[in-house]
Amino acid sequence: MTVLDGKALSNKVKEEIKLETAELKKEGIIPGLAVILVGDDPASKTYVASKEKSCIAAGIFSEKITMNKDATQERVLDRIAKLNADDSIHGILVQLPLPDHIDTNKILETIDPKKDVDGFHVSNVGQLVTGNPNLVPCTPLGVMRILKEYGINPTGMDACIVGVSNIVGKPMMNLLINARATVTVCHSKTKDLKAHTSKADLLIVGVGIPHMIKEDMVKDGAVVIDVGINRMTWGKYEGKLVGDIDYENVANKCSYITPVPGGVGPMTIAMLLKNTLNAAKMSRQ
Ligand code: NAP
Repeated sequence: MTVLDGKALSNKVKEEIKLETAELKKEGIIPGLAVILVGDDPASKTYVASKEKSCIAAGIFSEKITMNKDATQERVLDRIAKLNADDSIHGILVQLPLPDHIDTNKILETIDPKKDVDGFHVSNVGQLVTGNPNLVPCTPLGVMRILKEYGINPTGMDACIVGVSNIVGKPMMNLLINARATVTVCHSKTKDLKAHTSKADLLIVGVGIPHMIKEDMVKDGAVVIDVGINRMTWGKYEGKLVGDIDYENVANKCSYITPVPGGVGPMTIAMLLKNTLNAAKMSRQ
């Protein structure tokens, strides 16, 4: 069994980005990412701080815009419109979730698709679905990068994705279909989850239920990718982060597995930097 080391790979990708950013600077372009944070959710604050730190380390200009949790939708839209028109900003990211009084779809649709480094705008979603991807959501993009790095070609594989969110499962499904895997997608209404997961050569899980995938749900020799991140507040793992895979028991059965932490998580930020760099490169055209 090989552990898919997302932490090491993310460092490698970040170094590559740093070099490319330095090259771009010679042309007078400094890639710039603006992150809008509405409210004071502690987890969101941590994510935003970590994105900012990674940007600075990679030579990417980072602008953090914090707005009060009571900020009106109009104010947020107005801020996005200004960033859309700002030539020093190539990527715009609105940290989710947003407060309930704000229409998330409306916000995401207002971001210029060319600056949509999260890949959530319908225009970018459509391009991915039609097999002509441009800016692709960072987490599934990170999963594809891990597979590539370890020489795992999904073409022809029976792949099973558990979780069908717009952020993880659906774009993952489209990337794998584009790569010509045979894809099964499971969700909360799937009748017999184990019947699907246990047939998969490639199993990708992003649900948010700690250790939900047990040993008997995984095929011998499968490639297992754990997108879940759960902070445990009780039991043996109290205070620790665990994934959706019962790692200790499943690891014995598979050919490759991502750990949590240190698997998919670090790749998400690396792909955000990559998307920002690509958006900056595209701004030249
Ligand atoms: P989400 O929007 O809540 O989606 C969860 C998905 O899981 C839904 O599609 C849901 O089905 C499905 N589901 C719920 N219970 C299920 C069950 N018992 N059996 C099968 N499917 C079930 O969550 P998300 O934003 O995609 O995040 C999922 C997990 O990934 C979380 O732990 C999150 O922290 C993590 N995550 C990690 C990264 C990273 O960088 N590593 C990035 C994003 C998210 P329905 O649609 O039918 O309700």
